[in-house]
Amino acid sequence: MEKIAVFPGSFDPITVGHVDIIKRGLKIFDRIIVGIGSNAEKKYMFDLQKREAWVQQTFASESRISVVTYQGLTVDFCKKVNAGFILRGLRNSPDFEFEKAIAHMNGAISNGLETTFILTDLRFAAVSSSIVRDIIRNGGDVSAFIPETVKL
Ligand code: ADP
Repeated sequence: MEKIAVFPGSFDPITVGHVDIIKRGLKIFDRIIVGIGSNAEKKYMFDLQKREAWVQQTFASESRISVVTYQGLTVDFCKKVNAGFILRGLRNSPDFEFEKAIAHMNGAISNGLETTFILTDLRFAAVSSSIVRDIIRNGGDVSAFIPETVKL
């Protein structure tokens, strides 16, 4: 059976840390669906169309990666796209504690959905969309932290 994982996130904007986890995820999964969350309650710096276009352009040459936007529960989205796995990245212990609670809850409200984690590469351990947004807001250079496809 095909192993399909959803990599859910806001990607506001996508960073080199996300790209690394998704590419390494292809060693484990046959297909990865990048699920871009759209939550009406959440304030994003970049609108959904931009976030989606940047992720799509980043993986345009990779047939095993697709990009889909979704609303609502990640477990429902996984069911809809036939994914048996959620893929997440881990940078540090706060990430672990946060992800552990979500993974437990997602496990409890789904039918055997497994969450898998890939540890961040040493080079990207400090990269986060929120710090990238802060640098952008203050006029700094973020080119080292985002893929070339992201044209701000
Ligand atoms: P969310 O809004 O769900 O936090 P993000 O877009 O910030 O979404 O992140 C999506 C996933 O990517 C999360 O699992 C997060 O831990 C992971 N991630 C973000 N930055 C990095 C990085 N530099 N290295 C590894 N994983 C990362």
